[in-house]
Amino acid sequence: MRKKRWILWTIVCLLGLWALAGCKKESGQEQPGVQQEEQKDTGKKENKNKKTHKFVPEDYAPGTGGMMVTDNGFYYYSCGTDLGYHYCDRTTKRPMYLCNKPECRHDGNEFCVATNARYYYLDECIYSEKLFLYALEVTETQYLFKLLAAELDGSAMNEVATITTLEKTEGNISIDNCGMIIHRNTAMLEVHMEDSDMEDVRYYGVAVLNLNTGEVSWLDEDPLGGDNVEVSRFRGYGDWIYYCRKEGKKKLLHRYHITEKTDEVCKLLTGFAGYYEVKDADTVLYLRSGMSELCSYRYSTGENVEETRIMTVNRYYYTLDGISGVTEDYVEATDILDFQTDGEYFYFPELVRWLGSTDEEGNQYSRLDKAYVHVFNKELEEIAVVDLALEFPIPGFEETEWTKRPFTIDLHYCGEEIFWTLSPQENMAEEYIFCCKRSDFLAGTPEFTFVYRQE
Ligand SMILES: [Zn+2]
Repeated sequence: MRKKRWILWTIVCLLGLWALAGCKKESGQEQPGVQQEEQKDTGKKENKNKKTHKFVPEDYAPGTGGMMVTDNGFYYYSCGTDLGYHYCDRTTKRPMYLCNKPECRHDGNEFCVATNARYYYLDECIYSEKLFLYALEVTETQYLFKLLAAELDGSAMNEVATITTLEKTEGNISIDNCGMIIHRNTAMLEVHMEDSDMEDVRYYGVAVLNLNTGEVSWLDEDPLGGDNVEVSRFRGYGDWIYYCRKEGKKKLLHRYHITEKTDEVCKLLTGFAGYYEVKDADTVLYLRSGMSELCSYRYSTGENVEETRIMTVNRYYYTLDGISGVTEDYVEATDILDFQTDGEYFYFPELVRWLGSTDEEGNQYSRLDKAYVHVFNKELEEIAVVDLALEFPIPGFEETEWTKRPFTIDLHYCGEEIFWTLSPQENMAEEYIFCCKRSDFLAGTPEFTFVYRQE
């Protein structure tokens, strides 16, 4: 859901808001992606080579989308008035364009990594200490899907490979979800183009790019055929890239072996809700729809185990007659927004919408909009339920200003900190970024500090 919005806004931004993009940030002598100490002492090179996500195993690649966090700071694409890629240092918490060209106006010029107007950006990830950007370039006659790589300090950007070139034909097109993952020097990228009435898929394919050789192959028997089924939720672990694919009404979990180029379907229990995480080389965890059952599957034995269910939480409610109270309710799989891991713990963000419901006595009521995160350890015990409505309003905001209901809950795990980006339902283009200590989050009582607001 989030990614679709991202792409839509990216294109809208690129088409309509260039004139507003000249707003320049005070950047002083700072450079994106370089810690203050390192700028003073260039001998401290080892700092720059630290792992991007400390708690995530060396050989695990999380999915993409939204903000990217490194040990030094975070990177994101802003669709607001400061259109373009941004970097925000973790210490100074001051955002700046991801560009170190002196006197740059960040106006879409070809030397500006942050705002280069030649490309529509489709997806991005940080891999091997570079920001990889999946981009579409549109020429007079062609659509070119390309993979680019930018330096984390914004000093340079180059084209890594052209995934495919499509000739322009009659009619308007739109670009829908085009996700990617990079794992063990292999990129898997969706190429997705629709007629702009959004009813016909014109081209769909999943490309596999070998970053060592530049060779492109396709997962689909009929590469780029309009009937190919979309894939989603890429993850990398060991020699494999995992992904979901729909077959009729069912969702299936696949994995692709990077060196052998083979693909296998995992025989999960019925009702796979489409959310999974890789626990180790032999085990995936996945969620079944209905009562949010957390199950495991072992590749070596083919065994499925119904491990546990996501626990009930107290729900605040008020009835149509104006009576309020607390009730217990099962977590419904439709309320679960994501399934993530930091390598040690598993996280299930849950968003309860305004829903009409009936309690045991037959009272009709509407549940309040609430956002929780259920945290499980590796033994699959639920160790915390974090209520994300803590400590609002935010310092520095008028109390009346913080009536915003979250539309998405994107959590980003980095070392001892967890970042949370929130888009309110009222204005999905805005993002608020908060930060808390990981240890407080695991104890169920995070104290979020406001980092900044991206308009
Ligand atoms: Zn620039």
